[in-house]
Amino acid sequence: MKDNGAGEPKFDPLSACSRCAACQSACPSWSATQLETRSPRGRVQLIRAFNDRRLADSKELSEALFTCLDCRACETACPNDIHPGQLSLHKRAELMPDGLPRRLRRILTNAPLLHAGMMEFGIGAMRILYQQTGLRHWLRSSGLLHSLPKLERLDRYLPEIPRKPARASLAELVPAAGVKKGVVGYFLGCAMNVLFPEAALSAVRVLSLLGYDVLTPRGIVCCGAPQMTMGEIDSAKEMARRNMRAYDEVEIIVTDCAACGAEMKGYANLLNEDQAVHFSAKVRDFAEFVEPFIDNAEILPGSYAWHAPCHLAHAQGICDPPKRILKQIAGEFLELTEEDRCCGSAGIYWLTNPQIADNALDRKLRFIRETSAETIVTSNPGCVLQLLAGKSDTDEWKVKYLSEVLEVAMQGRKVNSESTQESDLMLTNNK
Ligand code: SF4
Ligand code: SF4
Repeated sequence: MKDNGAGEPKFDPLSACSRCAACQSACPSWSATQLETRSPRGRVQLIRAFNDRRLADSKELSEALFTCLDCRACETACPNDIHPGQLSLHKRAELMPDGLPRRLRRILTNAPLLHAGMMEFGIGAMRILYQQTGLRHWLRSSGLLHSLPKLERLDRYLPEIPRKPARASLAELVPAAGVKKGVVGYFLGCAMNVLFPEAALSAVRVLSLLGYDVLTPRGIVCCGAPQMTMGEIDSAKEMARRNMRAYDEVEIIVTDCAACGAEMKGYANLLNEDQAVHFSAKVRDFAEFVEPFIDNAEILPGSYAWHAPCHLAHAQGICDPPKRILKQIAGEFLELTEEDRCCGSAGIYWLTNPQIADNALDRKLRFIRETSAETIVTSNPGCVLQLLAGKSDTDEWKVKYLSEVLEVAMQGRKVNSESTQESDLMLTNNK
């Protein structure tokens, strides 16, 4: 048994892995490459060889670990409770040299993740310079983007940036609508705030409609997931500690972002201290929390299918609650084949490993098209960006957050926009 102090799972995968390969077909990086070094089993064996000093640190080893999407599908598939995804994630930190480039990158990425205002400023500037000036339109219509593949890819993944972040419309305390049942904390993730504010506001409104005062502390910072992905475990720990302090007053913390929820439920393991265990036990995914209370929502017209984010289905083990909600409110609910298989988003994996990401996305899109569902519902910003990036001009389906469709069912409003658009609904600021 070993614990590297960074939350490495406390079992010995090095001897527990039976090499049965039950994890292999679940793994998107193996499916795309058919390489053992891109499979969960291969990664476990590489880590084992490295720890036993049979394998030196090398570019190949680093690539094997950094091509893991952290989708955790292998963890669901493994009969021996081994966590190849998490092991790869934690081992990355050890392998990266702590030189000047890494320190610079840490400073540059930590700043906006620790200060929401800085991220909002950067995204707002991008909206003005790239969208409003017409630069985006010109790059697209001139055909120039086709000769700049990286920029073309970035452009394809960048949604229409909303005019205002969620924080501009969201009071720190939103009162319960009607009879008050209690108080919950709401965790507003970075991407939800700046890219999908309307879905975030929908989540808060649903919680309020269900009778909860909703507290979104101003002191929250990024959940730490991006830093974990980059191997910056100390930064992720710092973010975890700040978020834990921000929610001292509440006993339940709800998040509508699957990646944030998985990360915060993992603080117990990351920090390995009583306060973190207590904090993680308070975290609830949006569907997990609201599902027992949905009883008088309207039936929505149209057909709906559920794409399960990896960090909900595999990292949190939450599979049925969102589907039960949809079955209750959807005019027609259609099963999506391989609903819990990774779409290939994985943070900025679509940029760093485009071939594997595209392979996963193509597989997902094939099944989405087969369902003929009009609306694909999910609950993770990375998945929404990935599905929108893959959507072609002939695809007629929309992508919506669960919070948005549920709010419509509860309020009787019309579903008529993509997730990136804004409404003028404002929440009451009673501060
Ligand atoms: S990680 Fe688990 S599923 Fe994969 S080969 Fe090892 S024991 Fe089998
Ligand atoms: S977390 Fe996903 S990508 Fe990584 S080894 Fe497991 S199945 Fe493969």
